[in-house]
Amino acid sequence: MNPNTHLDATHDLALCSWVASANDGATDFPIQNLPYARARRAGTDEPWRIMVAIGDQALDLAAAVLAAEHTDAQTAALAPLVQGDLNAFMTRGPADWQLVRESLSRALTMGSPAERALAPCLIAQSALEFALPCTIGDYTDFYTGIHHATTVGKLFRPDNPLLPNYQWVPIGYHGRASSIGVSGQTVRRPMGQTKAPDSDSPQFGPCKRLDFELELGLVIGTGNALGERIDMAQAEAALFGMVLLNDWSARDVQAWEYQPLGPFLSKNFATTISPWIVTMAALAPFRLPFTRPAGDPQPLPYLDSAANRAAGAIDVQLSVWIETAQMSASKASAVRLSSSNFSEAAYWTATQLVAHHTAGGCNLQAGDLLGTGTLSGPAPDQAGSLLELSMGGKTPITLPNGEQRTFLADGDGVILKGRCSAVGAVALGFGECRGTVLPALAG
Ligand code: CA
Repeated sequence: MNPNTHLDATHDLALCSWVASANDGATDFPIQNLPYARARRAGTDEPWRIMVAIGDQALDLAAAVLAAEHTDAQTAALAPLVQGDLNAFMTRGPADWQLVRESLSRALTMGSPAERALAPCLIAQSALEFALPCTIGDYTDFYTGIHHATTVGKLFRPDNPLLPNYQWVPIGYHGRASSIGVSGQTVRRPMGQTKAPDSDSPQFGPCKRLDFELELGLVIGTGNALGERIDMAQAEAALFGMVLLNDWSARDVQAWEYQPLGPFLSKNFATTISPWIVTMAALAPFRLPFTRPAGDPQPLPYLDSAANRAAGAIDVQLSVWIETAQMSASKASAVRLSSSNFSEAAYWTATQLVAHHTAGGCNLQAGDLLGTGTLSGPAPDQAGSLLELSMGGKTPITLPNGEQRTFLADGDGVILKGRCSAVGAVALGFGECRGTVLPALAG
């Protein structure tokens, strides 16, 4: 039984925590979630530690392990977490992930005898600063959002929006791991080469069409040896969890550079992810069947399985918000620009991305990150980028305070959110993924 899709006592609707803020119904972090981050008290030089979110608190696992008794199996599974090494924990595989999830769930449940020992190991999340949750050795960005691919394809190639390989191949490109940052970061507007349609030659200067992309990121838990594959039957167990992901994009740079090998400097200057990795186990109650529109080709056998058809999709409600410098100065709340759903937006599932990535023998490793691609819904107001929302920069969006945007301005904060709900399950979320645009460097 795979814990990624199997429901157990840790998902129980009736489960409440002795951490009161975990039970309020609105939190992203009820006891059924239990996501992992790497954090420390803000403003200190304490070592980064692995923490688990519970309500508005975070459980410091290094402190928690010292405070309580454990079996030998628990001690072995927890050892890499005590050392602050999430990659080493992920490498240990689904049996250990599940053992720790069950242990944390029991220890944090209302009435647990562990409360007295663990209560001092809680830190308010508002008092933390975050690092990337794990070492990300490699980053690949897919392009599974078919509505995004069609709309953007129309803007770049009006007569040929969706290329014929799209319905057969999970399209992707190799991204840049070194420039991935964690929520809260600032992102400097990139310089780049652009060419206006009416100009004979390109120029070099600050990007004028800076954009976000609303994506999810899949975190690989257990990889594969070079030359081997992770097939559809094995792919579920290779996935550890998911984060929100903003693939910052310089559209003017992209339009000039992308042919024939795809995006390069238009994407490699920054990617922001949310700090908490929501585990696949926590997402089990939100699985949906994977279906294809009538008339579309079915996946080739190496991208198909009964389990994927039955429960390959995941219901994650996504939204993107903007908070401009003017809004921040006047203490106005962030404004939602659009919302969509992973299960409606994506043409391929998480397991199909893993199976495809490794089909030629490419080795994935613990901590590798696979972006889903921009997850735009079918309606125009469900678009996951400004490129789509402003129809290629032709139609400005007017914000409630009167400001207008076609693309991002300096000082704009972009916030991604994700939340899952289903009948018979406690709703949970991903926290937020926030980044703020800095002006380009002068000269
Ligand atoms: Ca992307």
